[in-house]
Amino acid sequence: MAQQLVYSSKINKIRSFALIQIFIGFAFMYGGILTKKIEWLMVTFFIIGVLFVIFSCVVYFWIGLLSTKAVPIICPNCENPTKMLGRVDACMHCKEPLTLDKDLEGKEFDEKYNTRKYRKEAKANTKNNE
Ligand SMILES: [Zn+2]
Repeated sequence: MAQQLVYSSKINKIRSFALIQIFIGFAFMYGGILTKKIEWLMVTFFIIGVLFVIFSCVVYFWIGLLSTKAVPIICPNCENPTKMLGRVDACMHCKEPLTLDKDLEGKEFDEKYNTRKYRKEAKANTKNNE
C-alpha cells in the first residue's frame, strides 16, 4: 500500500489527538459502568477514564498556548488565513506545505526540518559554505 503523504497542520493534529483522548476516557468510564459488579475494576476504569479526560484538557490548554505563539499567515495556495508552528507546517485548510525559512523553499516537506538536530546540521553546513 502506497503511503499517502498528506500533512495536516500541527495545531489540527494536536487538536484531534486531544479529542481522541476524550473518547478513550469516556470509553474507559463506560467500561467502568459495565463492570460495576466488580468494584475494584469499576474504580480502576473510572480513574483511568478521568485521567484521560484531564490529560486531554491539559492538551487543549497547551494548544491555546501554542496558538498564541503560532505565526499567522495567509496561505499562498488557498488564500485563507492559517497559523504556522515551527519552521515548516501545513496549511489548516488545503494542507499546502508551508515554510518560513527561505533555505527550505522548494524542498520537499519534511517534519525533520523542525528538529533540533536538523537545525544544528543546517548551521554547520552554512558555516562550511562560507
Ligand atoms: Zn491553504
